[in-house]
Amino acid sequence: MPSALLRILSPLSTPTLVAKAAEIDLGLAEHMPFPFLALVGQTEMRIALLLAVINPNVGGVLLIGPRGTGKTTAVRSLSDLLPEVEVSACEEGCLPEDYERGGEGAVCPSCAAKLKHGEPITRWTAVRMIELPLNARLEDVVGGINERVALQQQRVRLERGILARADQNILYVDEVNLLDDAIVDAILDAAAAGSYTVRRGPMVGTYRSRFVLIGSMNPEEGNLRPQLMDRFGLRVVVRGLMTREERLEIYRRVSAYRANPRAFLRQWAAATAEARAEIEQARALLKEVTLSEQALDLGLELVRVLDIDSHRAEFTLFEAARAHAAADGRLQADVRDVQAVAALALRQRRSEFMVRYSQQQQAEDEEIRRQAQAILQARQDGRRK
Ligand SMILES: [Zn+2]
Repeated sequence: MPSALLRILSPLSTPTLVAKAAEIDLGLAEHMPFPFLALVGQTEMRIALLLAVINPNVGGVLLIGPRGTGKTTAVRSLSDLLPEVEVSACEEGCLPEDYERGGEGAVCPSCAAKLKHGEPITRWTAVRMIELPLNARLEDVVGGINERVALQQQRVRLERGILARADQNILYVDEVNLLDDAIVDAILDAAAAGSYTVRRGPMVGTYRSRFVLIGSMNPEEGNLRPQLMDRFGLRVVVRGLMTREERLEIYRRVSAYRANPRAFLRQWAAATAEARAEIEQARALLKEVTLSEQALDLGLELVRVLDIDSHRAEFTLFEAARAHAAADGRLQADVRDVQAVAALALRQRRSEFMVRYSQQQQAEDEEIRRQAQAILQARQDGRRK
């Protein structure tokens, strides 16, 4: 009997697609998300999300597909599978590391007092999914001067933004293709670096931003610029196609969930707990997972024959392959792992423009070499006469 995690990662598991009907917003999603393990089908989407959770270095996941294909449901359901993390217990987001770095002035008065008395200013909590509102401004995202504190307490304090609040959590950016480029850039920078710095006049704040980034977009509503697209690690093309049996199974599960969410969650609780433990094991194992020579060779050769310029291609490919091996409890990622994640990591990376551009350039370079040789030849012939 394979483990719960392996059953999810096996393409042969539940030969069905994701619960489309679960897209219905019950207003319960934040507290009682549909269980990840109860999702039907959409194997590729589930694999990509799990790989990103096991290894945040894959660089996030972009879900590409039309509305109503269960993208949001799947992302929300992930929070069930994540371990607890330590977060700030304070509204201003003070952390012990702020205090260590900047002393009393770097935290709010209440947290400074607590720290003096040896009281904790953090608490352990389940990972949350932070959803970026579509109308978010750059200040909301990266943070700015806290005007309330400035007015009430006559002190200037930088307010951490959504990116800092997403630290240790999942940041879900729905309709990422409709966001302002500057905002998408800030998000991708922070996700890649794991921290970011805000400057407001003389004030500087550096915040941690270690989150699993998940974006979604409906290509019918506009494309993501290639530069931004390139910075997402894994890309899943989500389709809403499903068979009669799959639709029936989705209908049954979603009906049961809607009728009594608590009872439905209880049915899936044991399997969910098992998968969560396995994800933790995989995360712990990941540090030791290496790639075989053949796996490296396959990956690099693939990138070459596919004419992909971006070095992020092989980076994501290899990190995803390592996560895939870790999920399988192996210390070495081999060609099977590379094959399993290749489409996720490499699709939509080749730039037709750059391929054409480079071919034209090669033709011109060839022409220059040919002309130079012809001139030299003519001069030589002239001297011989
Ligand atoms: Zn505080």
